[in-house]
Amino acid sequence: MSLLNRTDNSQATSRGAISIRNVDKSFGAQQVLHNINLDVTPGEVLVILGPSGSGKSTLLRTINHLEKVERGTIAIDEELIGYRPRHGKLHELRESEVLAQRTEVGMVFQNFNLFPHLTALQNITEAPIYAKKVRKAAAVARAKELLARVGLGDRADAYPRQLSGGQQQRVAIARALALDPKVVLFDEPTSALDPELVTEVLDTIRSLAESGTTLVIVTHEIGFARDVADRIVFMDAGRIIETGTPAQVFGAPRHERTKAFLSKVLEPAFHI
Ligand code: ADP
Ligand code: MG
Repeated sequence: MSLLNRTDNSQATSRGAISIRNVDKSFGAQQVLHNINLDVTPGEVLVILGPSGSGKSTLLRTINHLEKVERGTIAIDEELIGYRPRHGKLHELRESEVLAQRTEVGMVFQNFNLFPHLTALQNITEAPIYAKKVRKAAAVARAKELLARVGLGDRADAYPRQLSGGQQQRVAIARALALDPKVVLFDEPTSALDPELVTEVLDTIRSLAESGTTLVIVTHEIGFARDVADRIVFMDAGRIIETGTPAQVFGAPRHERTKAFLSKVLEPAFHI
């Protein structure tokens, strides 16, 4: 399935650099991110693995400023997220500025989060029309193109409840792409799906990866991670424990905690 081709994402590989520096984050007394440092290069596909509660979702949410960090900085293509430097200090951006910045980061969640009262097409055109003031005809044309790319060209007028989970998630992916984001973040995009619907969503993400869009993906789909990731990050208890290519991390994990995690998630595969 070739849903996206390189030609219409020709600038994608020159944008979408993410730079995370010394990031700490707490909820009340509980520190959930400890001095996170991570660089994602334009066009890179980074997969984050780790046990439940290790801070994966929180880290993704800091990247589009859905969560504020207490220390450190995050920048996309050298533009600071959520703050403006002035006179040697960081000043928080206004809400409208944060919202404008957020349009540069696409996000796909576990539970699709589509608007139930809008059709597939309207879900995709909503943000371009209302947040970015794109003309309706142009937004509709683009949405149709995106629906065709995720294999749903014939379901433009369907409401979310009329679509399977896999179809809803593909609409959510098309919606995330509608604002031409610099990066797309996926938070366990297949965890809520029936097993037989997982492949169609992973195939859609795979084509996006091949198109050169910068992707950060939290997933427990180890086979997919092995195939698609340029780099794996393993997190535990709010820390990055190790990073490496899939061959390094899966073939020769250096850290005991990585080994323990992988032995748990890889084990079922040996019993099939
Ligand atoms: P993961 O995605 O790896 O499962 P999360 O980032 O969701 O981990 O959570 C990391 C830790 O932060 C967990 O202990 C979780 O309970 C806590 N946490 C996450 N979000 C909140 C919140 N909004 N308020 C309080 N604690 C939170
Ligand atoms: Mg999570």
